[in-house]
Amino acid sequence: MPSFLVPAGVVLAAAAGQLSPWLALAILSGCIILAFYQSSAKPSQVSTAAVAADATRQQWDYIIVGGGTAGCLLANRLTAGKGAGKRVLVLEAGSADYNHPMIRIPAGVLKLFQGDKDWNFSSVNEPHTSGRGVYLCRGKVLGGSSAVNVALYTRGNKNDYDAWDHEFGCVGWGSSHVLPLFKRTEDDLTGCATTNPEYHAMGGEWAVEHVRYQNPLSRIFLQACKQAGLPMNDDFNDWSKSQEGAGRFPVSSRRGVRVHAASALLAPALADKTRKLMVLTGAFVRKILLDKQVAQGVQFSADGIVHSSTGTWRRGAAHWWRCSLTTPADAFRHWTKGETGAAWH
Ligand SMILES: Cc1cc2nc3c(=O)[nH]c(=O)nc-3n(C[C@H](O)[C@H](O)[C@H](O)COP(=O)(O)OP(=O)(O)OC[C@H]3O[C@@H](n4cnc5c(N)ncnc54)[C@H](O)[C@@H]3O)c2cc1C
Repeated sequence: MPSFLVPAGVVLAAAAGQLSPWLALAILSGCIILAFYQSSAKPSQVSTAAVAADATRQQWDYIIVGGGTAGCLLANRLTAGKGAGKRVLVLEAGSADYNHPMIRIPAGVLKLFQGDKDWNFSSVNEPHTSGRGVYLCRGKVLGGSSAVNVALYTRGNKNDYDAWDHEFGCVGWGSSHVLPLFKRTEDDLTGCATTNPEYHAMGGEWAVEHVRYQNPLSRIFLQACKQAGLPMNDDFNDWSKSQEGAGRFPVSSRRGVRVHAASALLAPALADKTRKLMVLTGAFVRKILLDKQVAQGVQFSADGIVHSSTGTWRRGAAHWWRCSLTTPADAFRHWTKGETGAAWH
């Protein structure tokens, strides 16, 4: 039955006095909510084997394993620049369902735990947890864990970045290196970009705002912290001062809708048809094929088929990919021989 017939019937019945106006209003509201849900809740989408095979026949400069937080950002930045953008393939094990209402509504995260968008990991059983495994959520959908997290916008501690840079050999990861990159991505809607432009910026893809509703108990809790002698902190991302203290966290959202890596960074890149960007979903990377510690390709399964790709790195040029399709039976043999990424589960 065409979907407009139900609301039309309700309006006619109400007009004819067959239905109480309040009941008609309730049914119409239900129809609107359902229509919204259906328009935004696409079925769990994964790429077909044919699409995956097509991807493996093409040449890519970069293959990104995992279309999560880092993967979406990289895909966006690498493909940017008219004519200068790289050719990028993203392989994501989860679905493309990143616009699901329970992802868009920040509190919907509670409905996502242990569902099909969660890897639903568990730590090993150990004595310190009374012999139990502890549940660990990780996002399994485009956007990765940024699509299922609690959305607090915190950049971490300045000293950790500096320790990586100075002590652990991650040159270029110091706080002074990463701060401009954080600011480039940020679209601050809290006002901090005006009052503290050294640490905040507007105009990036990643909107940051305060939650729209603050429970009175939250305010009372913060007052209690102050009375107890704790320092107040109105900006945990201001690295010029200590992060210690009590205060409100800003959140990754725009007008109350969650902002995550797929919505903020991947979707705009995909919408730009001048970019050479392809995303496969339901594509589980099983192995990175190494030759003398240099990645030559990946082996991944999609739609029940294992795609084995080998490539040759040509300095200053693109990877090229030779691809062969093997059957699920082959996949099973690989699996039982322990050749796959089983350890990643
Ligand atoms: C419940 C929860 C709450 C959190 N709350 C906050 C918060 O409030 N604020 C904050 O800043 N951070 C928070 N975090 C942490 C933050 O979300 C993560 O640190 C961040 O998203 C990690 O990014 P990533 O790119 O490393 O991994 P992810 O975003 O998890 O991306 C990894 C991607 O790789 C895919 N993948 C994995 N294995 C394969 C494979 N073999 N083949 C193909 N694809 C694969 C996954 O499906 C996933 O999409 C939270 C995390 C969780 C789980």
